[in-house]
Amino acid sequence: MQQLTFVLDENDSAAEMVQSVTTNPAYENASCRLQIVFEPNCEDYSHIRRILQQATEELATTHTVGMTLMGPIGPTVRVPSHPICTFLLFEHSDATVYTYDCHDLSPVEAGSAFCDELTKLQDLKGILCLTSSSTLCPDGFINAVAHAFPDVPIFGSVAGSPLMSEDLSAVFAQDRIMNRGIVAVALCGSDLHLWCDYTLGWRPIGKGLTVTSYAGGGVVRAINGEPATSLYKRYLGVGTDEYFFANTCTFPLVVHEGERLAARTPLNYTADGALLFCATIPNGTQVRFSYAKPEYLLQESLATANSVANFAPQGLLVFACQGRRVFLGNDTADREISYYSEACPTMAWAGGYAEILHDDTGGGLLNNSIAVIGLREGDEVPDTPHAPIVDPELRTQGTVIPLHERLVTFLEATTTELRATINELARLAERDQLTGFYNRRHMDKLIRYELSKRRTGDDLVLLMYDIDHFKQINDQYGHDVGDMVLRDLTEVVSDAVRTADTLSRWGGEEFLCLLAETSLKDGRMVAERIRQRVEQHVFDPVGQVTISIGVTSARVDDTLETLFARTDKAMYDAKNGGRNCVRVR
Ligand code: GH3
Ligand code: MG
Ligand code: MG
Repeated sequence: MQQLTFVLDENDSAAEMVQSVTTNPAYENASCRLQIVFEPNCEDYSHIRRILQQATEELATTHTVGMTLMGPIGPTVRVPSHPICTFLLFEHSDATVYTYDCHDLSPVEAGSAFCDELTKLQDLKGILCLTSSSTLCPDGFINAVAHAFPDVPIFGSVAGSPLMSEDLSAVFAQDRIMNRGIVAVALCGSDLHLWCDYTLGWRPIGKGLTVTSYAGGGVVRAINGEPATSLYKRYLGVGTDEYFFANTCTFPLVVHEGERLAARTPLNYTADGALLFCATIPNGTQVRFSYAKPEYLLQESLATANSVANFAPQGLLVFACQGRRVFLGNDTADREISYYSEACPTMAWAGGYAEILHDDTGGGLLNNSIAVIGLREGDEVPDTPHAPIVDPELRTQGTVIPLHERLVTFLEATTTELRATINELARLAERDQLTGFYNRRHMDKLIRYELSKRRTGDDLVLLMYDIDHFKQINDQYGHDVGDMVLRDLTEVVSDAVRTADTLSRWGGEEFLCLLAETSLKDGRMVAERIRQRVEQHVFDPVGQVTISIGVTSARVDDTLETLFARTDKAMYDAKNGGRNCVRVR
């Protein structure tokens, strides 16, 4: 296959393009011709009509699909101002175009209808998906396809519009222009190979936040019970003003999509504090803020560009988010894109409201990322691998590092230290200092949890053991030796139980052991093993120390209190039974 890409930046360049394409031998010999158009103009769709008309009249054997592009976020951001047309001229493969107008059809219904069509195709290798409208939330479509065809990547973009406040985005195919619709192109071929990946580079920061009020159509009313926009105010000092998007697109929220992280960036907000996203974000979704340093984005992109270069693509489609451009600045963002043109010089790139890439590792609707799709016909990869793509400017050592990057480094280091401190505090809060066992408060919590998640008939055993005549040990050898005995006992008992069993210090020299998924019979055996191990151990300098053990198993109607009371009674049965023995209740 061959890719040809044109930017229609002069009055007569459309005619030149047609001339250049139609006289190319690859056009003549193609089994299938697909033109993908990225159109920055969408005030009245007249530009689109002209392109579609030209395709019908002069490129009649070519499938034409396309989408409108997003306008710049902020006056300094450079985005394509002229249509970009890229032709994929396949030698053996085939592209079939499907369109779904979603005024009366939900994306899920469209996805289901599309899947029916896909079952009729052979050698399906990938699906290009272009969707319009910031409120369509095409994830229903993507998920339907991903579910029915888990091995087939689906990729593309949500179209954009010059103004986010007035969404004029559209997708088009053949003679159809849709301001609320989906264009899907099924790519089939026995020797067609696709390489797909997306790069993000943004890293999560701060605590997890939960979506608490989702109103459908991508509208998130509340996060953590607060109006969604107020989070940006609190954590970033960002208000709802003309700079809202420029500020928020460099701090995307991230969610887990399958095995991967995907960003979610609001496209709009309402006066009552709701945020509009172009993806479905149901109640309960965990989101976190994320941040980046330029090098995080560039390094990940460089790695992605090198991977796709090694795939030896004959065609390359790149869907890039403008949020990166706002963050990196035009020149650095151009440098990032240039990595991909080094991987495939004929590549075409474009950006709308969101990127789409779902493959077997997850993904779906994406923001702030770059979705990269390499195409190749033929099973052979050239013997000589692509020369490594490098960016000498990426080395920042030995220069004055911008203040904001130093602040980010400071924040990262501080966060790491804080996290370690919090983990240590959490550990201390649930442990007994002398023995390292769980303390009573934490054990209460664990037992309550075990009781709550239990289904009828599940086995759960609780043991309580208490040192016999411990007072005498303290009296004879002193309190420090008493402490040593407690510590030694901890080790002896730990060695006698499974790692899945939970040990805790309940009080002075009384301990609990919780045995999940254990019958009363087995619980008694474990208790007897513990008793014997303790009896046989030589506690320096005391010599022999014994314990009395009470055992019970949980009943269906047990509470922590009733379970504990029975174990306690069983333990006193053991004391009354002569000590150094096990009793069951
Ligand atoms: P019994 O066989 O009936 O259990 O006799 P006992 O002497 O062990 O019973 P009692 O409960 O009367 O005494 C427990 C003693 O354990 C009293 C207390 O001073 C001691 N003790 C409690 N906590 C600690 C501790 O952390 N370190 C030391 N060294 N002793 C402790
Ligand atoms: Mg005792
Ligand atoms: Mg006691």
